[in-house]
Amino acid sequence: MHETMPSSGVSLEQVWKIYDNGYVAVADVTFEAAEGEFLVLLGPSGCGKTTLLRLVAGLETVSRGTIRIGDQVVNDVPPRDRDIAMVFQNYALYPHMTVYENMAFGLKLRRVPKAEIDRRVRAAARVLELEHLLDRRPHQLSGGQRQRVAVGRAIVREPRVFLFDEPLSNLDARLRVEMRAELARLHRELGRTMLYVTHDQVEAMTLGQRIVVLNQGRVQQIGTPLEVYHRPANRFVAGFIGSPPMNFIEGRLEHLDGLRFVGEGGRVQIPLVEAEWPNARPGQRVTLGVRPEHVTLAASEEATMQGQVETVEVLGAVAHLYVRVGQTTVVAQVDAAMRPEPDQTVALRIDPARIHLFDAETGRALS
Ligand code: ATP
Repeated sequence: MHETMPSSGVSLEQVWKIYDNGYVAVADVTFEAAEGEFLVLLGPSGCGKTTLLRLVAGLETVSRGTIRIGDQVVNDVPPRDRDIAMVFQNYALYPHMTVYENMAFGLKLRRVPKAEIDRRVRAAARVLELEHLLDRRPHQLSGGQRQRVAVGRAIVREPRVFLFDEPLSNLDARLRVEMRAELARLHRELGRTMLYVTHDQVEAMTLGQRIVVLNQGRVQQIGTPLEVYHRPANRFVAGFIGSPPMNFIEGRLEHLDGLRFVGEGGRVQIPLVEAEWPNARPGQRVTLGVRPEHVTLAASEEATMQGQVETVEVLGAVAHLYVRVGQTTVVAQVDAAMRPEPDQTVALRIDPARIHLFDAETGRALS
């Protein structure tokens, strides 16, 4: 952590935030966004994402640890001197000002010369395709256009770092998809460091170059979207990323004729290639994880388990089957044309090459 930092990277080193009431919102968080990186902070409500952004912005003070922007420690630097801009979920535009004035306002306060303000507002309007709307007032804009103006106010600041706090969560589904693409384009064009907070895994997967997965104030895993999807570090990450979520089956490892997973009162048996699980101990209680796309309908002789179909959701090309296996419901993703009917008994196969195993006590992935 002591090598020279690039000039607009953001790094957090063992950062803690304990609120006045004693609540630990952020616990021992360390991560680094490289210069120009789009880094997403992803986690469920209350995991401390907003607190982390506010710490970087300087709107909260750290209890312990170090925050750097570029190579400067900013723990004691006031927000206005951090050279960052933040876009909030509840961005409020000034209703009596035009789009142009809304974007120019912050610069006016900072006494930026008029010509320079004009240059920056027009440049931002061009990037955001707001040029034809500069004379309108907020009530004359659509939700997506208003959101673009909010982003425009951040762009005109020409900050070293952009912070986004769930900026798309007030938009309807279609606009969210549009703005997502727009933000990705913006990042490519501006090339600035961006920290983006969301609880939406699709946003995280599509926008993030890397994702920091958080739960209860702690970092669970840091990796590219495909890393956190394919190699989740623990059961929390495995269950949080993916839709429908990964299936979990409780069981234990046994060594009969070779290592195998035995779950659900013996109903589920999966032979394991021992060499692939060097850390597995026979007798160990584990949770098996498998994504719905790796559970398939099978002929009974090659089946991993039998169960009864509870529900069938057809999504077009694929269907999701909810299958009752003992006490557990297992979700399988199958070809919609091949789907069985509710109440039918089916045989399912779990692809042993695609399973994850987690220690039942710690939740950590076995490898
Ligand atoms: P959400 O997605 O719901 O906004 P979040 O992950 O952004 O959640 P934070 O807003 O960072 O979560 O809050 C983290 C935890 O800290 C929550 O449990 C919250 O109740 C608590 N918290 C936030 N602000 C304060 C405060 N000023 N004093 C005490 N506790 C706080």
